Amino acid sequence: MAESKMVHSSLVTYASVISLLTLCPPFVILLWYTMVHADGSVALTWDYFRRNGLLSAFVNIWPKPTAIAWKIIFCYAAFEAALQLLLPGKRVEGPVSPKGNRPVYKANGVAAYAVTLLTYVGIWWFGVFNPSIVYDHLGEIFSALIFGSLIFCVFLNIKGHVAPSSTDSGSSGNLIIDFYWGMELYPRIGKDFDLKVFTNCRFGMMSWAVLSITYCIKQYEANGRVADSMLVNTILTLVYVTKFFWWEDGYWNTMDIAHDRAGFYICWGCLVWVPSVYTCPGMYLVNHPVNLGTQLALYILGAGILCVLINYDCDRQRQEFRRKNGKCLVWGSPPKKIVASYTTADGETKTNLLLTSGWWGLSRHFHYVPEILAAFFWTVPALFNHVLPYFYVIFLTILLFDRATRDDDKCRSKYGKYWKLYCEKVPYKIIPGIY
Ligand code: NDP
Repeated sequence: MAESKMVHSSLVTYASVISLLTLCPPFVILLWYTMVHADGSVALTWDYFRRNGLLSAFVNIWPKPTAIAWKIIFCYAAFEAALQLLLPGKRVEGPVSPKGNRPVYKANGVAAYAVTLLTYVGIWWFGVFNPSIVYDHLGEIFSALIFGSLIFCVFLNIKGHVAPSSTDSGSSGNLIIDFYWGMELYPRIGKDFDLKVFTNCRFGMMSWAVLSITYCIKQYEANGRVADSMLVNTILTLVYVTKFFWWEDGYWNTMDIAHDRAGFYICWGCLVWVPSVYTCPGMYLVNHPVNLGTQLALYILGAGILCVLINYDCDRQRQEFRRKNGKCLVWGSPPKKIVASYTTADGETKTNLLLTSGWWGLSRHFHYVPEILAAFFWTVPALFNHVLPYFYVIFLTILLFDRATRDDDKCRSKYGKYWKLYCEKVPYKIIPGIY
């Protein structure tokens, strides 16, 4: 546990843990309030707080988690859990864990995604449920999610202590760090219900697509039409989330699943931060139907789709190279590689291949470049009147630059001299020639 987390000095770690635990929940409410009630203007929100005082302003704007909010969350969560359990999917093995375990999953993400979106649009189309209701109660929903997810993280913590699902679990000896980073790498209910697949993929990522559609429908219901800016934002986020579910079993090999334990950081993040912060450009556009004109809209759409495709191809290239044990072509040539050996926590020696050509020869985390640019392109339809719609792009840039450092540190301690060799062959961390 400590091995994976103490990448930064312990003082920086504790300070950032405490800050994130205390500041993220109120930030979500501030963001929602500013987008929905203060025209997206930080200055207006600031003025409101200045006139009312910090505490009473917060009490005034913080919505109660109402019964309707709980009902919406419960129905959505139950629906997604049922799809995760019941839809058929092929058996997929995850990567070998630090304790030498190999988690097994059912890959039914695309089916769950298709069923969710068809059902959501279907119930609107046939008049069963109007998604505008979700937008109208968004603050209450975020408020309920904030508290509900904190309770869920307490449950994860207790479960990690009393009934861990695998040997990839354990305490750091510090209650706050355990709560923040989590106790278990692969918590499950029963044999089949993987909690991180639920929180990260089926609740979090799915909510991104569902809310994008909600914002679109809300604008349509309010104005009788959908502005091209909203269309570009919605299409790009849907392309991105579709790519995510298409590649979901690849995601199960990434740091989020194979390295980060189930605690506040990853689970609260996916249950609350993704539906609120990740969807903020669309949330802003509901009340700001900017008209870009067909040509500009198409340029932005094209650039965004290209970035999503390049990001997908980076992940695909690395995973195909590993799956085929290096016996594939990378950009039309045999791949350049390093055979890197490492020792598991149980003392067993294993080897992995590191790709040093293709996207992975440009820089060690080139895939983050198109990821950040794609986010820029689905935000830029909001134009430049306010900075807050760009919060996700700014946050993502900081997150991914930090993640590159964390991943480099993880790989350096895992592969030692082989990682050093990779760094010599591919010296740039993210941006080729610059950083
Ligand atoms: P990955 O986990 O997919 O990639 C890093 C891992 O790949 C390393 O830990 C190492 O794992 C292995 N690896 C590193 N270099 C090489 C190499 N040269 N050849 C082969 N294997 C290598 O990264 P992420 O989880 O950060 O990203 C996955 C996707 O998720 C990306 O598309 C990213 O943009 C996206 N993402 C999006 C976020 C968002 O909030 N929108 C946040 C984070 C990621 P091993 O131990 O197996 O060697």
